[in-house]
Amino acid sequence: TEYLARIDALNPQLNALISVDREKTLAEAQAVDAARAAGQAGALAGVPLVHKDIFCQQGWKTSCGSKMLDNFISPYDAHVVEQCRKAGLVTLGRANMDEFAMGSSNENSFYGPVKNPWDLNAVPGGSSGGSAAAVAARLAPVATGTDTGGSIRQPAAFCGITGIKPTYGVVSRFGMIAYASSLDQGGPLAQTAEDCALLLNVMAGFDERDSTSLQRDKEDYTRDLAAPLSGLKIGLPKEYFAEGLAADVAKAIDAAIAEYRKLGAEVVEISLPNTKLAIPSYYVIAPAEASSNLSRFDGVRYGHRAAEYSGLADMYEQTRAEGFGWEVKRRILTGTYVLSHGYYDAYYLQAQKIRRIIADDFQKAFAQCDVIMGPVTPNTAWNLGEKNADPVAMYLEDIYTLGVNLAGLPGMSVPVGFGSNDRPVGLQIIGNYFSEAKMLNVAHRFQ
Ligand code: GLN
Repeated sequence: TEYLARIDALNPQLNALISVDREKTLAEAQAVDAARAAGQAGALAGVPLVHKDIFCQQGWKTSCGSKMLDNFISPYDAHVVEQCRKAGLVTLGRANMDEFAMGSSNENSFYGPVKNPWDLNAVPGGSSGGSAAAVAARLAPVATGTDTGGSIRQPAAFCGITGIKPTYGVVSRFGMIAYASSLDQGGPLAQTAEDCALLLNVMAGFDERDSTSLQRDKEDYTRDLAAPLSGLKIGLPKEYFAEGLAADVAKAIDAAIAEYRKLGAEVVEISLPNTKLAIPSYYVIAPAEASSNLSRFDGVRYGHRAAEYSGLADMYEQTRAEGFGWEVKRRILTGTYVLSHGYYDAYYLQAQKIRRIIADDFQKAFAQCDVIMGPVTPNTAWNLGEKNADPVAMYLEDIYTLGVNLAGLPGMSVPVGFGSNDRPVGLQIIGNYFSEAKMLNVAHRFQ
């Protein structure tokens, strides 16, 4: 209830949560108490959290930040939500987000922008901006998020908190509303690496309802938190420190890397030569998959339906015209175009080839180092409204995060200081497949 009171006091200003339902929260808390009394307390019994509004949750509005799903009450739980429930976590509310997770500033939400708790004139990042702002403002200790091209790491960086995007396939996508299925991955946001590890323990695990869910033994992501870092080999990709990186961000990152040297780590320069191609490749593949995934919002099965129309085709048209925002429409059009006959080879296939090359670059780099470090973003959080009019300017801000998703690698953001405008800076740690425990260890030693 302390958190609920804080939400009541601060959420009207921050707009971090789309739905809050005191009765539902208290009912969940009672169920946890009952389980505890019966000696069946879960691993995180009684810990409150917020879920990004992209995870279907039974009985809660699951809007995905869109007018299209403004009236959608989910009849079932996503795998992640189910796991959290079993572990005894209690839902405080549903976090705001860019519509269908498309965006880097949370300004594309049907429910209005989220404000950055560090500076109310700044964006919180996106698309998991509500989750990040809620944790940063202490409206909740932990939150779930999803990361298709940076949507956990970038808002974590902008809001000065910790977030990890696991290896593709570690967290089930069942019940997580699909944006770009080959890139989407759920993960935790929290104040510390330790809290991220605890929530990831709950979120991760095989689920037969997601065909890309990996069948692996359960891991304890806290197991290496305190391991020493002497001998750790950190690779610094020269392309991540090149033109375009703001001086104040570079300064905070350099200072963090100096700390790692003091802890006994060794630093080597590496190269990810195709970093620049991540943006064009991602912004072909992600819209292509989105245009296919979002075809299910047709006004028939669920969600919004236009009130007036003449005939079936017109019903689809009116419904989608009214239900989707501009960024979503832009991506559906881009995606449909790059997948269309005659353009498929020129755009989509080329983008897939680049994706492979980018993944290979990372493997070559990991032959030289244990983890890669660099900035999460070229700049600290920008002002609300600053990049709204120019979508490409916003896409360019994703330069350091997209490669990880294209390669399916785990990546995380750790708060390491502030820029010259007093807005937070995030250090990115990228590990090889399934090295989450190592990455959390590296992050934990810093905190
Ligand atoms: N900013 C990227 C995009 O708009 C990434 C979003 C995400 O990871 N969901 O697609």
